[in-house]
Amino acid sequence: VLQLCVPLNSFGKYYITIQNCIVDLENMLDLLHEKVEIVDNKDATELKVINGDIEFQNVSFGYDPRGETLKNISFHVPSAKTLALVGPSGSGKSTIIRLLFRFYNVTHGSILIDGQCINDVTIKSLRRAIGVVPQDTVLFNDTIKYNILYGRLNATECEVTEAATQADIHKIILKLPSGYETKVGERGLKLSGGEKQRVAIARTLLKAPKIVILDEATSALDTQSERNIQNALNQVCQNRTTVIVAHRLSTIVHADEILVLKNGEIIERGTHQSLMQQDGVYNAMWQQQLQMDELASNEQ
Ligand code: ATP
Repeated sequence: VLQLCVPLNSFGKYYITIQNCIVDLENMLDLLHEKVEIVDNKDATELKVINGDIEFQNVSFGYDPRGETLKNISFHVPSAKTLALVGPSGSGKSTIIRLLFRFYNVTHGSILIDGQCINDVTIKSLRRAIGVVPQDTVLFNDTIKYNILYGRLNATECEVTEAATQADIHKIILKLPSGYETKVGERGLKLSGGEKQRVAIARTLLKAPKIVILDEATSALDTQSERNIQNALNQVCQNRTTVIVAHRLSTIVHADEILVLKNGEIIERGTHQSLMQQDGVYNAMWQQQLQMDELASNEQ
């Protein structure tokens, strides 16, 4: 029996490690489909995050050496400001995020966080500095408390309930059969998409990173829950450098800068107001969204 227990035990450990990785990186990064080959450079040091300032300098990248997925991308997100990435499917939005996490090395140019090139710092310290609220949150088969606590395992019970309150999920949890001790996930109670996203927000609030990535849901939530989740999202972005991969333009009108991407290039950039004054792609996307919203409200 002992001979059987030891390998089973270590399998259990690996299983938990793999599951942790999946929860960390979430669906957005399509972890299971990515070849993760990047390792720390020989002289890598810890990333020192002071302000969470992000800079892309003339970044080009191709998944395949024969083609470029991103071409000459430059932007600067100062501390606590918000950058939104918009553009059609396949334009390169998620690739920008994957490069920020250093899932791949850039082909040309560089990415800096607080002035430090991300190639020169340890991958662990880089990823620790960035929180993600993905569009589809993966939950552990564990209690809802653990699922929130995972953001910072040494947080106190009080901090967990505070994060849940800010993420607008505390009251929902209290109504569950065993409150914070209710088992959720694949084999437990299934939460709705919006509730899972709130768990991710609470988790990120506990982690308290200087940089937050929001991957907006493609599927429209009904307006009331959308409005509620917007408050929770605003909480998580407050005083943090934020990059939003946006699908609904109405959520990014207050972004400090919007980049419109097409085929891996920035074709327009500016604030919502300045982009609306141009008769360009952003303006057309906005008009199209208005029409779609109108159609949807007529159908209701
Ligand atoms: P969406 O809005 O659909 O999520 P996106 O703007 O985020 O799209 P990316 O996922 O960054 O687009 O994809 C940019 C391009 O890179 C696309 O042509 C895509 O097919 C390609 N691509 C994405 N991931 C990989 C990969 N792992 N290997 C090869 N090509 C990829």
